Amino acid sequence: MSEIMLKVSGLKVAYGGIQAVKGASLEVRQGELVSLIGANGAGKTTTLKAITGLLAPKEGEIEFLGRSIKGQGAWNLVEQGLVMVPEGRGTFARMTITENLQMGAFVRKDGEVDEDIEKVFGIFPRLKERRNQLAGTMSGGEQQMLAMGRALMARPKVLLLDEPSMGLSPIMVDKIFEVVNDIHSRGTTILLVEQNASRALGLANRGYVMDSGEVTMSGDAKTLLNDPKVRAAYLGE
Ligand code: ATP
Repeated sequence: MSEIMLKVSGLKVAYGGIQAVKGASLEVRQGELVSLIGANGAGKTTTLKAITGLLAPKEGEIEFLGRSIKGQGAWNLVEQGLVMVPEGRGTFARMTITENLQMGAFVRKDGEVDEDIEKVFGIFPRLKERRNQLAGTMSGGEQQMLAMGRALMARPKVLLLDEPSMGLSPIMVDKIFEVVNDIHSRGTTILLVEQNASRALGLANRGYVMDSGEVTMSGDAKTLLNDPKVRAAYLGE
C-alpha cells in the first residue's frame, strides 16, 4: 500500500457548546482520491477546517506526511503542501485570473511559476481565454475553476476540495467533476468533500460517510455507492 499522506484520528471540534465533530478518523494515501460525503451539517467542512488549521480541535490528532500538524497555521500548511479550496471559492474579486493564479504560488520559492500557470491553463482552457478578466466578474463555475487552479499553483501534495459542485448548473457540475478526475489522474492526491454522493463516490477510490459529526461508514468507493443504506440516505432511493 502507498504512503499515508494525511491521517486524522479521533477528531473532536466544537463551536462553543455545539459539538460539530464528535470523534472522526480518516486517512488519505498517496495518489488516492478519497471522498467524504454526508448531509448538510454533518461536520464535513468543520473537519476540513480543523485539518487546515482554521479551527482548533478539542481532541484528536492530525498528521500530515507522518508528522503532527495540530496547532499549525493554515499558511504554514500550504507551504508544506496541504492546500484547501474552500466552500464559496474565495477568489480575489478585484484581481485578474492571472493575478489570482500568481497569488496561489506566493509560498513558492522556485522559478517555475509561469510554466505552472500554463499547465493550469491546459487543465482549464476557459481560464486561459479570460486570463485578463477580473475574477469578480466570472460565473460561479468559472470561479470554482479559478479557485482550483489557484490551489494547484501551490503544488499541493494533498488537495482538499470543499463542495466544489455547490450551487453550479448541471453542465458546470459535470465539468467540475471531470476536472477533479483529471487533476487526480495527473497525480494529485485529493480529499473531496461533497454532498453530491453519487458523483463523488463515482470518482473516488475510497469514501467516508459522515453523519451528525461521526464517521459512520467507510470503505471502497464503489462498494459504498452500491450499499443500500448509502443509497437510501444519500442518493434518495
Ligand atoms: P454543509 O454541507 O452544509 O457545509 P457540513 O457537513 O460541512 O455541512 P459543517 O459546516 O461542518 O457541516 O457543520 C457542522 C455543524 O456545526 C452544523 O450543525 C453547523 O450548524 C455547525 N456549525 C458550523 N459552523 C458553525 C459556526 N461558525 N458556529 C456555530 N456552529 C457552526
